[in-house]
Amino acid sequence: MKILVCAKVIKGEINPFDESALECALRLSDDVTVVSMGPKSTVSALKPLTRLGARVILISDSIFAGSDTLATSYILSTAIAKMEYDLILCGRQSVDGDTAQVGPMLSEMLRLPLITNAMEVSCSDNEVMAKTRIGEEMSKLPALVSVERGYVLRFPSIFSKEGVVDIIDNTMLSCDVKRCGLAGSPTRVLETFENERGRRKCKFISMDELFVLIDELKKQNTVDKKQEFKGQKLKSVWAVGKEVATVAKNIANEVTVIDKNTPYKIAQMALKEKPQVILWNADIWGRKNAPVTAAILNTGLCADCTALDSDGENLIMYRPAQGGNIIAKIKCLTYPQMATVRTESKSSEIIVSGGRGVSDKMDKLYAFAEKIGAEVGTSRGLVDMNKAPYDMQIGLTGRMVNPKIYIAIGISGAVHHTCAIEGAKTVIVINPDKDARIFEYADYGIVSAF
Ligand SMILES: Cc1cc2nc3c(=O)[nH]c(=O)nc-3n(C[C@H](O)[C@H](O)[C@H](O)COP(=O)(O)OP(=O)(O)OC[C@H]3O[C@@H](n4cnc5c(N)ncnc54)[C@H](O)[C@@H]3O)c2cc1C
Repeated sequence: MKILVCAKVIKGEINPFDESALECALRLSDDVTVVSMGPKSTVSALKPLTRLGARVILISDSIFAGSDTLATSYILSTAIAKMEYDLILCGRQSVDGDTAQVGPMLSEMLRLPLITNAMEVSCSDNEVMAKTRIGEEMSKLPALVSVERGYVLRFPSIFSKEGVVDIIDNTMLSCDVKRCGLAGSPTRVLETFENERGRRKCKFISMDELFVLIDELKKQNTVDKKQEFKGQKLKSVWAVGKEVATVAKNIANEVTVIDKNTPYKIAQMALKEKPQVILWNADIWGRKNAPVTAAILNTGLCADCTALDSDGENLIMYRPAQGGNIIAKIKCLTYPQMATVRTESKSSEIIVSGGRGVSDKMDKLYAFAEKIGAEVGTSRGLVDMNKAPYDMQIGLTGRMVNPKIYIAIGISGAVHHTCAIEGAKTVIVINPDKDARIFEYADYGIVSAF
């Protein structure tokens, strides 16, 4: 079986999700080709993969520079259409952009069935089976599967020799230059700025005062902190599913809630009725189907927006960028303008959230949560360490929460985490590092190890 693995090099290293996809491919077949798009400087990171027995192809041309997810998917699909394959594996997402859009967009451009969020993949002669985050899925081959970070890439044998990386440029691909690079990228970053949202004034207390404080806070009433949108509203916005209806109503005069349907049906309706904007919930379903719909409509899509705005004509989208401490303000140049949006899920009244700093104190964390009657959540730090399941993750790529009391223990406070707790009435932090960023997002802080 011929397997292609799409892999991106980020800061000189293979994207960890793509490493997982490669290991998955190597376990399924001995005919594996890695396809990467990037500058020629990435050859040094790609070359070691040849020692694993994989053929490695780098798609590189100066006209591809600055491509967003739509343009990248177009270039990759043009190259892959010229290759032979039974199965394509992509990592679920890259750890820099984190949009999870290229796999689904690529599947649509190559007209392949798509399975996302696969944790285990197996194949028969003409079918692929995957255990995914939402159950078991199966598809006829050829197909495209996006893989979670579950597989650990093997080391090459000491007897293996390094091979060459084949480089192909646009003279060999004949991509339409208008669809490549910046010219072919409908999403535009308008500006970036320091993230100030959600900052609070922290009052430092001692560990002895904690339980008295929690008892007092439990008795208080919850006040909705949400502020009404005061800008110019958009004319017509579609909300795919009722989860994003409230967010849509905030920025539009006229909101149509449409049923969650196949990307083809939604795209067909959009072509006919021409909505200005389509909003999707940034859950597993939305992250799979929105990119496919964007590829059909050949329009831009901004992933995991934490806030939306409008100038009356355009949707303005905000999402964390560059490691998360700054916010990017983004506009889409094509219509419909599309975004997946983080929405708050129904939270418990009290959430105790643990991070990497308490990875060896999980029993204590659960016991503390039980004592005060709280639900347990986590940062992505603990999920990445396999210490907690993904559905407990709070943050940009997890859940947004709005409890009465949020207690963060052993969490440093990356914006990817703090952006999801802005709706909490009171935030309490326990961390031995008095300079940890999370204290800037806390009402009460305890500088101590847990
Ligand atoms: C695109 C993208 C999306 C992301 N999405 C999410 C997301 O949805 N949710 C999320 O959380 N992160 C997300 N992240 C990751 C995020 O940037 C951080 O890497 C992550 O939140 C760090 O987890 P942490 O705070 O648990 O670990 P660390 O940053 O390692 O912090 C551990 C903290 O524990 C403290 N500590 C150590 N010992 C103790 C102790 N005994 N008691 C108490 N404290 C202690 C330390 O002082 C430190 O502050 C995302 C990243 C990217 C790039």
